[in-house]
Formats: sequence, C-alpha cells, structure tokens
Amino acid sequence: MIERSEHGIQPRQISANALKVVERLQQAGFPAYLVGGCIRDLLLDAQPKDFDVATSATPDQVRELFRNARLIGRRFRLAHVRFGREIIEVATFRGPGDKADDEDIDRVVEDGRVTRDNVFGSEAEDAFRRDFTMNALMYDPTSETIRDHVGGYADARQRRLRLIGDPVTRYREDPVRLLRAVRFMVKLDLNIEPETAGPIVSMAPLLDGIPPARLFDEILKLFMVGRAWPTYNALVRQALWPQLFPDLFADPACPPKLVENAMKNTDQRIAEGLPVTPGFLFAAFLWQRVRARADGLVEEGMAPVEALAQAGEEAIVAQGRKVALHRRFSTIAKEIWCMQPRFHKRRGKRALNLINERRFRAAYDFLLLRVDEEPELAEMAQWWTDIQAVDHEERMKMIQAAPGGGGGGKKRRRRPRKRKAPSAS
Ligand code: ATP
Ligand code: MG
Repeated sequence: MIERSEHGIQPRQISANALKVVERLQQAGFPAYLVGGCIRDLLLDAQPKDFDVATSATPDQVRELFRNARLIGRRFRLAHVRFGREIIEVATFRGPGDKADDEDIDRVVEDGRVTRDNVFGSEAEDAFRRDFTMNALMYDPTSETIRDHVGGYADARQRRLRLIGDPVTRYREDPVRLLRAVRFMVKLDLNIEPETAGPIVSMAPLLDGIPPARLFDEILKLFMVGRAWPTYNALVRQALWPQLFPDLFADPACPPKLVENAMKNTDQRIAEGLPVTPGFLFAAFLWQRVRARADGLVEEGMAPVEALAQAGEEAIVAQGRKVALHRRFSTIAKEIWCMQPRFHKRRGKRALNLINERRFRAAYDFLLLRVDEEPELAEMAQWWTDIQAVDHEERMKMIQAAPGGGGGGKKRRRRPRKRKAPSAS
C-alpha cells in the first residue's frame, strides 16, 4: 500500500466521471479502483489516454448501478459507462484463467484455442494476470492509496518495464506482449529490465500465431501515436519487424528513405495536431514492392496506372496474411500509388482535375517524400507545390507552359519494348 504523501497522485488529476463510477461502486459495497495505463501514466508524468476501473462487481451488477452502462464484448464481459463523449470502462476482477483483454479473448476463441469462460477472480489475481508490473497498480481515490501486488510502484519510479512473473511463460501465453513491451518502452521512454528484454528476439516467431486483425490493432497503437520512427527502429532491433512485415526491405535496419520519411512525417503531423492515416504509412511500407511489380507489368505492356492498381492489390493481399489492413485504409494506399504516374501529366484539364481529387493531398505528400530517393522528381514536385498556391488564371498559364503534356512522363523513359523480358514469372 502506497500513501498519498509518497505517490503524489491527486484525485483532481483523474477524470471526474471515473471518480464518480468508483465512488458509486464503493458505496454499493464493491471494492473498486482505477487501474492500468492511467495510474502508470500519472506516475510517469504522462497524460493518461483514458481511465479504466476494476471492481469486484460483476458486469450485471455494474449495469444495475448505472443507467448509462452498456455491456460489451461478445460474452458481455465488460461494462462501458458513458458520460457524453467519455466512456469509462469497468471490468470485473479476473482470475488466472483469463489471459488477455476482452476483445483478445474473443479472438483467441475464434482462433480455436481453449480459454475458460468468464473467469472472475480476486483483486490480487486480477493484478497478477496483467502484463507489466506498472500496468497492475490499483488506485483507490477514496483513501488516496495505491495498491501494489506486483512491485509495480518501484518499477514505475525507476522507469523500469518488467513483466509480471516468468517472462518466457508470459510471452508464450500471449505473444502480443512482445509488441506491447516495445510499445511502452518507446512511448514512455522506459528501461526494459534484462529478463523481460532477453527472450524477445528468440520468441518473436510466436507472433505468427496471432490473427492478422489483432496485429493490425497493435500496429495502429505502435505507429499512429507519434513515435513511429523510434518504434520502427526498436521493432527492428528486437527482430519483431520481419514478423509483421516479412520480406519488405533488403535490410530492415536501413529501410528505404521514403519509409523513414513517411514515419517521421507521420510523427511530425501528430505533433502538430494534423490528421494522419495508416493508409499513408502502409503506402510507404509497400511502395518498393508495389513499384517493382508494377514496373514488371508495364514491361509486359500494361498501362502504368493499371499496373500499379494490380501490383498494389497483390501486395495488400500478401501483407494481409500477417497484418490485415482494413479496406478503407488499403483503398487510400491504392489511391496514393495510382496517382503517382498521373503527376507526370501536367498539361491540359487533367492536371486541374487531379488537384481536385479527394486523395490529391495525400498523394502529393507522398510524391514529396519520394524526392529524396528520386531527385529527378524534384522539379515536377515543385511545380505541383507552386500550382496549388496560385489562383485559377495563374494555374491555366502554368498548365499551358508545362512540359510533359501528352506523354506518360518518366514512365516513357524505358527502353523500347522489343527487348524480351526475363523468362521467370
Ligand atoms: P495505453 O495507455 O497505451 O492504452 P494501457 O496500459 O491502458 O496502455 P490497454 O491495452 O488499454 O493498455 O490495456 C489496459 C490494461 O489491461 C493494461 O494496463 C494491462 O493491465 C491490461 N492488459 C492489456 N493487454 C494485456 C495483455 N495482452 N496481457 C495482460 N494484460 C493486459
Ligand atoms: Mg488503455
């Protein structure tokens, strides 16, 4: 038990709605605490994303106490208590039979593995089934004390990331913890304790058994929260990257400049509060593969845009066996790819139409990121930058004066098609 004078957390740092939920549960006679990421973040001087509550009350009992509660998860394992836009997640203490969080359990069951149904447990059991010690702290806002069953408080104070229990066993139980280790380490600037770090590289292949949809959810948390580039490097160091994106780059330690640029750009945009999409990042990750395949198809006589569409689809399907990109994001990636050859056509109405297309901005940003590796695109990219900045009249003048009117621009530079393509494939 850690007292207020020691931990320094104040109830006013906590969402008023979360406090209300805990108070009501406690008044009804159920022990209830704030748990998980929010307490960890407060101890580490980070901004909590949301506030989760754990209690001995069952989901049905929670529903009886709160009119604004809704049970979620296929087997109604959790309650969401809604206050306007804020949702407080209330979970019943779980026992050792429960290995992962609610959604994960549904997916694990789909996956055909055996998990016991709805195993509720004691407060201490609930702490021990969590992943990292600092994620298992429970805060009681009434007594203002932290309840620490696993040594998480000392770890948080020393910014030390440590799995609860035997790391090899815990990673085997749920290999997604390998990714979570990297995520917390990078996001919160933590030192990973050697025994927790040790098995990661050798256990990385276990990610093979994780459903692609669950890995996609993890990818979002890894890459779309402002530290994509450092996260990428950590994933490569821990041999986790090739498990998620196999055979993309010759040497993942030196990814294509475009990929590095795209991640840094995403981080920068998040820092500035600008919108970001995983479609853009995936477009960059897969570009080398898509480009090589599309060039082959063009060699065989296919039109550039069509070739990119087909190569893109193939790349997304292949990647989907590991990490399933939602369709709405893969559509964005494909639009970005297919627009690239169209930037070469600057004459006529086509150029004006391009600017007005929904995906123009993302495709243009992508083009800018390509310039580092393809300096021959610099003049053209600058032209597209300029044309956006001027009025209609000026635009018309630029279009009339533009080079590369009729042709397919760069795509035309290749040798005459007479040459026989290599026989393979
Ligand atoms: P973030 O702030 O990034 O959301 P978080 O710690 O809140 O971090 P969540 O994925 O929201 O992470 O999970 C909430 C809590 O549930 C965790 O703090 C941890 O105690 C527990 N948990 C989540 N995933 C697992 C897992 N795979 N194995 C064990 N415990 C888990
Ligand atoms: Mg959370």
